[in-house]
Amino acid sequence: MFYGNSFSDRKFRGQVRKYPLNYGGLASYNQSLMTTLKFAVLPGDGIGPEVMAAALEVLTRAAETEGLTLEPREADAGGVAIDRHGSALPDETLRVCEKSDAILFGSVGGPKWENLPPKEQPERAALLPLRKHFSLFANVRPGLLYPELIDASPLKAERIRDGIDLVCIRELTGGLYFGQPKGTRELEDGDVEAVDTMVYKKSEIERITEVAIATARSRQKRLCSVDKANVLENSVLWRKTVTDYVAAHAPEIELSHMYVDNAAMQLARDPNQFDVILTENLFGDILSDEMAVICGSLGMLSSASLGLVENRHGHRFGLYEPAGGTAPDIAGKDLANPCAQVLSGAMMLRFSCGLDALADRIEAAVRQAVVSGTRTGDIAFGGKSVGTREMGQAIMENL
Ligand code: NAD
Repeated sequence: MFYGNSFSDRKFRGQVRKYPLNYGGLASYNQSLMTTLKFAVLPGDGIGPEVMAAALEVLTRAAETEGLTLEPREADAGGVAIDRHGSALPDETLRVCEKSDAILFGSVGGPKWENLPPKEQPERAALLPLRKHFSLFANVRPGLLYPELIDASPLKAERIRDGIDLVCIRELTGGLYFGQPKGTRELEDGDVEAVDTMVYKKSEIERITEVAIATARSRQKRLCSVDKANVLENSVLWRKTVTDYVAAHAPEIELSHMYVDNAAMQLARDPNQFDVILTENLFGDILSDEMAVICGSLGMLSSASLGLVENRHGHRFGLYEPAGGTAPDIAGKDLANPCAQVLSGAMMLRFSCGLDALADRIEAAVRQAVVSGTRTGDIAFGGKSVGTREMGQAIMENL
């Protein structure tokens, strides 16, 4: 088994529905008014528990103002779960997730578990099976840099005077990471060969294109599909499918195509030429990390991984997590920036609860706190900085 994890074969059987094409954004199906949000909290390792604690305080305070009750249910995942239960994704954790409306994830991994076999390492043995189990095929990663923080970006200020604002939609459950055959073998002549398989079905490309269309509709209606159609068969199918699908279902969207090598260059040259980027798993992994770098600190970037399954309120089930990792260099020192975790929580309220106004308020509070000068070290540029807890307090004061 690819993940060495018993969950990867057992898919979550919630109610599945097709993404509607007529909603304004990725917001919600607006099925029912939510008064209680039960969500799984998996803080993980390193800075995970610190930024999660700050985020939960902010979310709880924000929810109270709207009469929404939060019921976070904490469970172990990653290195901490290996230490306590012998597995990065224990049965009990998966059960907590299955009974929840969404998952708020911290981050997992660290030096302590680096020498485990690759299949047992926290990220691979916890996060990837969660994605697979809940069929979280769509990763929505905003690349957002406030104009006030342009010094955090390695790009020249004149290129990003108004900040950066784009979204990457990455296919998350297909392509090279999951395709079979996959493996390493010794050849008869003593050489060694490793194989990964890049495979996509038309239906998989269509469903991620729907998410990208919905995202583009809620923004500037510009979609750039990134592939390598000059070399890869997969990309030829990708490009044709995206072209046909957009023409048939969303002719108002301005669609362009770009080879991935060019996209990597263009992102570094002029990121704001993009509105929404749509791409497959491997290319999205690389481009979204490049996006994180040009947007400054990983401590500011959130993400959502969405699937087809609905939660009990008729909104989409999703996993929400910061873009960064466990930051072992600053873990346990009250130095980590909690904004990415808070913003991931806001995305959860938006996509898994349909609470757009509340999500907007939290996002505005984060921005206001940062703009007014309350900043953790990663975005203070040598100026006065505050700790994780104080940053969380400042966000709450700006709600
Ligand atoms: P990292 O993202 O943890 O850290 C990279 C740099 O960014 C570090 O200097 C760190 O201090 C800084 N940083 C990250 N988040 C920050 C925050 N919230 N506030 C301030 N600074 C922040 O990446 P890494 O060092 O390559 O990986 C460390 C561990 O995290 C590894 O074990 C890796 O496997 C794991 N990881 C987990 C996830 C995940 O759980 N989704 C993602 C990436 C890496």
